[in-house]
Amino acid sequence: MLVRILRPWLIVASLCLMPMLGSASTQVEALLQEAEGVRSSNPKRFQQLLSQLNVQRQQATLKQREQLDFLNAYAQVFAGHYEVAIQDSRRLLESSSDVEMQFRTGALMVNSYALLRQFAEGLRQLDQTLSLIDRVKNPELRQNGLGVAALLYNQIGQYKLGLYYADQILAQKVPERTLCFAGQARLESLQNLDALPADSSIIQVIDKCVEQGEKAVANFARGTLARKWEAQGQRGKAILMLQNHLAEVQSTRYPRLIGEIESLLAELMLAEGDMAGAEAHAQAAIAERASLANSPPLVMAYKTMYELAERRHDPVAALSHYRNFARADKAYLNDVKARELAYQIVRHETQQKTQQIELLNRQNQVLQLQQRVDRQATQNTRLVVVLLVMLLTVIGYWAYRIKRRQSSLRRMAETDALTGICNRHYFTLQSTQTLARCAQIGDQAALVMFDLDHFKAINDSYGHITGDWVLERVADTCKALCRRVDHLGRLGGEEFAILIHGYDSASAMRLAEDCRVRIASIDTRESGHVFTVTASFGVSGTPLSGYDLAKLLSHADQMLYRAKREGRNRVCAFTGEVPLTPQPTITSEALDTLHS
Ligand code: GH3
Ligand code: MG
Ligand code: MG
Repeated sequence: MLVRILRPWLIVASLCLMPMLGSASTQVEALLQEAEGVRSSNPKRFQQLLSQLNVQRQQATLKQREQLDFLNAYAQVFAGHYEVAIQDSRRLLESSSDVEMQFRTGALMVNSYALLRQFAEGLRQLDQTLSLIDRVKNPELRQNGLGVAALLYNQIGQYKLGLYYADQILAQKVPERTLCFAGQARLESLQNLDALPADSSIIQVIDKCVEQGEKAVANFARGTLARKWEAQGQRGKAILMLQNHLAEVQSTRYPRLIGEIESLLAELMLAEGDMAGAEAHAQAAIAERASLANSPPLVMAYKTMYELAERRHDPVAALSHYRNFARADKAYLNDVKARELAYQIVRHETQQKTQQIELLNRQNQVLQLQQRVDRQATQNTRLVVVLLVMLLTVIGYWAYRIKRRQSSLRRMAETDALTGICNRHYFTLQSTQTLARCAQIGDQAALVMFDLDHFKAINDSYGHITGDWVLERVADTCKALCRRVDHLGRLGGEEFAILIHGYDSASAMRLAEDCRVRIASIDTRESGHVFTVTASFGVSGTPLSGYDLAKLLSHADQMLYRAKREGRNRVCAFTGEVPLTPQPTITSEALDTLHS
């Protein structure tokens, strides 16, 4: 019975999704289109087409197969196999990735649940289906979904929601047929909310339905108008209108409509005092009782019968009708309660779900924030590490530079710039330390001191640069003869000294002699001049002079002057006696020696 009410939305749903003709499975496509077109108007042909399509299923594309599955489920609804339809629809819903197919199938399931009067399930499915609506492009399919929602909410007595969805449909540009169905759904909501619009609006809906040949829907709207007229005191007019269309109502063979109009006519006629007419219509309504369970028309028909018996003072009949009335009323009220409960349960579930989702969203937000904080912290740590590394690098670099500078300064402070050997200061320092060490461990040490002969003459004859060159060569030559433990220093001008660790006087003499020979054999051609370089040597040692550097220097110096005095280019060792002779001066003989 309810399928008659829901059918318009099923038809719309089916027409909306007619796919474009494809080349690969053109024949299947053509059959599918035809099936979509005739499925409500010509059930027999529809069944034939479905059988044919099911045979050709293998040749269908995935999309076509889904469409065929939908049509098979739809056929199950029409055959009254609602549970099978629900199972098939659920399978399709879960396997299809096409949102529009999911929406369409979901709407079919809502209808099936409504037909099974499983309102809670229907509402749950409706929620799921409507959640897809924003992704559904096809406007007629969307209207179909909203229509299913309006009907279901009216059916469970949630008229405000029914009105909301009906208004949603009517706010859009819709086909004429939809104006009829949505208009009637809206009138049903408004009637139950005691907010019916002006007569003209109701008549407009009736006219629209008449225009579209929807007799059943038009007469539901007439019933609504009749009740309104009755309430306005125009009972006669209402009765007349209903009577005028009674044949048409009966021709629809739709029990729910027949019951509604007959029961209404009975009620109105009783109020008019037409007892015979009232009874006839009440009986006509009751005759449809098999299809009117839990509905107001049956309740009202029994009530009318009861009141008629009362008026006729027939208590036995009155009691019997009253019992029927009370039973029907109770069944109806129980049904209303059950529907209300279903609605409340689902609403509660939805609220819970929303709250859970909200909670999850919050937790998600917290997690995301936490992650951001963690990321930030990691970044900060990385930044700190990078900064530290940079800082350490800079510090390290500066420390290295300072160290280098310090070493360079130290080297400068310790080294004679011209020859690269120790300067006087550093030589003194090193030698003092070495002597102290030798004194401590009882090792011998010796000091060789030498001065270039007639160096002034070299400067004078070949220039200062040549003089410098000579100084460098002499230092290099002697350095090559020294060990690492020995200290070679330039004491000043053209005067040098070597402190030798662990040597006795004889070894020191040999070293001095070696140095003398090597200096004398320096090849000066590289300087651009040819001349001879010689030096005079004085040697002292710790056995005779002790470990005091000043003493050693003094004794070696004395020997050096002795060597100068004795003709230069020679080595003199300190033997313990201190000669008291004046310092040598440059003689013409000296210059001759230089040039020889
Ligand atoms: P003697 O054999 O008696 O030692 O005679 P001398 O000419 O070597 O001694 P003197 O003390 O008269 O001269 C030393 C000269 O050394 C004087 C000075 O110009 C020169 N002299 C000192 N330091 C340097 C220097 O660094 N470079 C150059 N080219 N000459 C220097
Ligand atoms: Mg000198
Ligand atoms: Mg000299």
